[in-house]
Amino acid sequence: MTHIITSLCLRDSSCVEVCPVECIIPGKPSSEWPWFYIDPDTCIDCGACIPECPYEAIFTEEEVPADYAAKGTEYIARSGLTGHYEGKNDKGEAVVLECTRMLEAGEIVDLRPDIAPNYAYFKEGPGYKALEK
Ligand code: SF4
Ligand code: SF4
Repeated sequence: MTHIITSLCLRDSSCVEVCPVECIIPGKPSSEWPWFYIDPDTCIDCGACIPECPYEAIFTEEEVPADYAAKGTEYIARSGLTGHYEGKNDKGEAVVLECTRMLEAGEIVDLRPDIAPNYAYFKEGPGYKALEK
């Protein structure tokens, strides 16, 4: 098992500071890797990151919902989307994403496709280098 960051992540970065094994890193470039990713080989499943996320974007792998019911205020960020998002992270720094979509209230979204990128970022994506494996 591991913990998974989903496309509800808006790069707030609060989770990074609480992770005891420093296995959460920001995706780069953000147009291709729009959210933060958890290295599944390093995560110890402590769960500390889950309550830190203001967007409730983190789940255990088993609990990533296939039928997430949107409140209507969230965005998803996925490569290929074209919506613009602007906000601030937990340090007050600007976050700008050009691959987002605001969800509609009651919309059902399958977040399970977000599992694979957490693995891929570290196996074949830039995360491999970032962690100097
Ligand atoms: S706290 Fe949530 S929004 Fe912020 S980087 Fe972590 S998963 Fe993404
Ligand atoms: S569950 Fe714990 S070890 Fe895994 S990413 Fe979250 S804070 Fe880090």
